[in-house]
Amino acid sequence: MDETAANHVPARRGPAGAGNRHKLPPRAGRFAPGAGLCLAGCLVAVLVGCQPTVEQNALAGKPAAGGRVRVLATTGMIADVARIVGGEDVEVVALMGPGVDPHLYQPVARDQARLSAAQLVLYNGLHLEGKMGDLFESLAKSRRVVAVSRDISQDRLLKWADSAGMHDPHIWFDVKLWQEVVRTITGALAELDPTHVVAYEKRARDYLAELDRLDAYCHKRAGELEPAQRVLITSHDAFHYFGRAYGFEVVGIQGISTDSEAGLKAVTDAVDLIQARRVRAIFPESSVSRAAIERVALDSGAVLGPELYSDALGSPDSSAGNYVGMIKTNIDQIVDALRRQP
Ligand SMILES: [Zn+2]
Repeated sequence: MDETAANHVPARRGPAGAGNRHKLPPRAGRFAPGAGLCLAGCLVAVLVGCQPTVEQNALAGKPAAGGRVRVLATTGMIADVARIVGGEDVEVVALMGPGVDPHLYQPVARDQARLSAAQLVLYNGLHLEGKMGDLFESLAKSRRVVAVSRDISQDRLLKWADSAGMHDPHIWFDVKLWQEVVRTITGALAELDPTHVVAYEKRARDYLAELDRLDAYCHKRAGELEPAQRVLITSHDAFHYFGRAYGFEVVGIQGISTDSEAGLKAVTDAVDLIQARRVRAIFPESSVSRAAIERVALDSGAVLGPELYSDALGSPDSSAGNYVGMIKTNIDQIVDALRRQP
């Protein structure tokens, strides 16, 4: 079984050695590791129990008003695709709002009703939602649960450097890879609601064309930098797909999960790289603690650039309130900051 299908396997908590590091402190939208364990376990028990029964299957959601399919997506990026492809035929709820870190998220009490109501649960997979694996496994006994990364071929995925057999979950930063996710979500909606398949496929074609234009825009903007200027240093390892797609060397101060703090060596290595390559700016992220990246900026003299949107969309009224806006905002901020003259 591949890791996408086996996302119920409890995720490892980040790069090797992370166990020696302190956990990130809780803050708005972030849940302390361990704090929700009991709650998550209770939700699993309440929603589906250990074995599926007739009663538990009856817990699967019913359509919303007008026969619309009730969809629950974990991240805002996934919810955005479901809303665009589903249009008027779906009702989509995102479990995690702006600024929420999916690596650490555990369901809270108010999530119970939303999870119970969903007919289709969409999650990223590849262990992005590292603390929700058991819940997805249990939910799958009573409703459709789809890892939206499941159809991406393994040779297009990046390895998670310190974890044998696992892959980098931050697939939304390569627009071409995210198009695969659009196709998977379209297929899942069509399967659940075949009467609207023509509408789903029409909206998907239009959105895929928009994403082709977005991908071209990213290449154009990246091309405004000399290759030597394309060094992207951020809070955690979210941007390797971005780097591969658009030609940036990428360094995350923390590991690939946020469930660890940056070690001293990671900080000194980043400072050395900034000084050797004369990197002008480094970037904090919207869903990750700023402490480590601020320390690197202080020690290296690099400018602390604007906050990038990494694992969550911006607020709905911001330029990064949807997926296309998030990607555009990031590439604009990266290119503008790295090419700015001192
Ligand atoms: Zn991440």
